Amino acid sequence: MILENLVIPFQINNKIKGTIVRLSSVASQVINDSLPKNIKSIFADSISITVSIGSRMKNDGVFSLHIHSEGIIKTIFVDVNNNSSIRGYISVNDFENVENLPFERLVSNGTLALNIKEGKFSKNYQGLVEIKGKSIREAIDSYFNSSEQVKSFFKLFNIFNHEKYEPNSNYIAGAIRLELMPKINDFNNLEKPNEDWETMLMFLETLNSEEFLNIKKTSKQILLNLFGQYEIKIFDEINLNNNCQCSNERVLNTLKSMDQKEISFLFNHKKSIEVVCEFCKTKRVYTKQDLK
Ligand SMILES: [Zn+2]
Repeated sequence: MILENLVIPFQINNKIKGTIVRLSSVASQVINDSLPKNIKSIFADSISITVSIGSRMKNDGVFSLHIHSEGIIKTIFVDVNNNSSIRGYISVNDFENVENLPFERLVSNGTLALNIKEGKFSKNYQGLVEIKGKSIREAIDSYFNSSEQVKSFFKLFNIFNHEKYEPNSNYIAGAIRLELMPKINDFNNLEKPNEDWETMLMFLETLNSEEFLNIKKTSKQILLNLFGQYEIKIFDEINLNNNCQCSNERVLNTLKSMDQKEISFLFNHKKSIEVVCEFCKTKRVYTKQDLK
């Protein structure tokens, strides 16, 4: 069975929008295998959040998530663009025996930022919160609850919290996100949507990772099991990939934009330099001649 990497948008009772995300290779290619499990788990959740919010960007749009902290995790960066390509990197401080460190120590004094870049001609949007609480899920919840307009709920899943899961028979990570759409033209029925919302959150809380990450269940089955009693519209799936946006031309343009001092420093009497893409690890070699 081939494991897919997909996002499926859905809508319930025309009042609640949602996405289900289930990731295999797209996540495993990004997550560095040598990291401790608790760090991998945070990285995996960051990827799932990014995809669940940013998978429908249009016109050269890019959606990104940044975490910065003074704890063990220095930086996590994940983005997804309008071609459904996901990239991500993590940088960590030197560590020993961090397996049992709690979330707060891994991301102490941390911030979580979400950034939307939509094409050349539209404005960028960025929002930022301090990371408080005991999980990345609490951090993203406080991000959305601090803004009045959108009511959002995330349930995140990944294999790294579980000893017994095998990557080959399970998805690696994923999420279900629900978003209560703003009440527009709904004067007759102001109370009902909130009741439904609370019930749906309760249903979602009953879903465990064993069920969610199991490849034998299709994403549609999971959604119908959870929300089958409502009027649910399930849209076409979006397949994700890891195609990096880096290119020889882009790297050369960056190098050419540096001043002579910086360039001499880079070459430091060497005949050529090697530039490695921090996302896809592609190596490119340049001589001084190439920069002319
Ligand atoms: Zn690359």
